[in-house]
Amino acid sequence: MLLAITETGRTISLVKKWDKQELLNITENERILCPSCKESVQLKKGNKRIWHFAHVSKKNCEIQLENESEYHLKGKIQLYDWLRNQGIHVEVEKYLPKIKQRPDLFVTWEDHQYALEFQCSNIESTVLLKRTTAYLHENITPIWILGGNRFKRGSENSLKLTAFDLLMTNSSDNKTLTLIYYCPATRQFSIVSSLTPYSPINFLASVDFFLPNRISFPELINARRVHKMPCNPNWLSLKRRWRTNSYLFAADSFKRIFYENGLPLSLVPSEAGIPVELMIWIRTEPVIWQGWILLEFIIPLKVGGSTSFQEIFQSFKVKVKQGFFVIRQLPSLSDSHYSFAIMDYLQQLEKLGIIEKDLGKRSSFRKIAELIIPKNVEEACELDRKVLMKLYKKNNM
Ligand SMILES: [Zn+2]
Repeated sequence: MLLAITETGRTISLVKKWDKQELLNITENERILCPSCKESVQLKKGNKRIWHFAHVSKKNCEIQLENESEYHLKGKIQLYDWLRNQGIHVEVEKYLPKIKQRPDLFVTWEDHQYALEFQCSNIESTVLLKRTTAYLHENITPIWILGGNRFKRGSENSLKLTAFDLLMTNSSDNKTLTLIYYCPATRQFSIVSSLTPYSPINFLASVDFFLPNRISFPELINARRVHKMPCNPNWLSLKRRWRTNSYLFAADSFKRIFYENGLPLSLVPSEAGIPVELMIWIRTEPVIWQGWILLEFIIPLKVGGSTSFQEIFQSFKVKVKQGFFVIRQLPSLSDSHYSFAIMDYLQQLEKLGIIEKDLGKRSSFRKIAELIIPKNVEEACELDRKVLMKLYKKNNM
């Protein structure tokens, strides 16, 4: 940690530029305490390492900042300087007694308070969620900045994200999500947006890089980005990969349900596995959950027959309870829900001319065309291309 107090209550913050001798005089002549537990801490000095404080004995402190890596300390100091250089009021490791939290940086800007957490290591998900909730409860906006060391890029436009990473998404509009990374080694921010999942951990995404002097605090936190749907070639090659190979890795429970209905997973209709808004909520592969909706509700229906959003959502909910489908935890989307993804999927099927709104009944849809079940993978891939083209045209009208 970078903050301690003396017995007389004087604050010693190591983010400030100190004369080394002056600092040593204080720490050698006075007892230095942890601001939250008031136990003794000592100054850890090193020629190469960043000077920091550590508890003399580790027991009983609510806030354990002991395991901060050099990378974390460096980032925290750089982010502090970045804020200060913009004339923004910022306090390092400010102790908030009411919620017993000590955010890395506490920012006051335009009458609003922000807890900025620079997260480089894994902590318990429950701890992270508790922290987010505590801040929100105090009307403090949490801003999660992930360590650049967590940034795991796959092929060009793809990114691997764990469930834990996704707990740290930020959203300023409850619809679009961003992940903010900062790397103290390259001194660079990366803002990840337009997250479109194609498997439980793989996402297509847009990434923008910024040097700290090229982006301000308000620009960083209000990085409200238009959610761009992935471009067709990327999505098509992923879908081809799914049909030729990846479906083999799907859980047996899914394979069984499709096979029992005479529909191998590799040959699901092309209307399954299309990008839809807010599908980030659903961790299960889009091909599977959308394929299941087609299998259970659309394929068995005769043309002219109807189904409803409510009916589909209720069954889906049961499947979620049974653990058949998995929902992600996205604390930053507090006014949103996975049912939004299901609704948007139905609207996309409408655009594809498979169903239409049944104007007589609320959220009811009538089937107007049969789905084509492809006979082989080649035919399926060709149909995938046509379906995506059609959607692209409809959505860009
Ligand atoms: Zn302590």
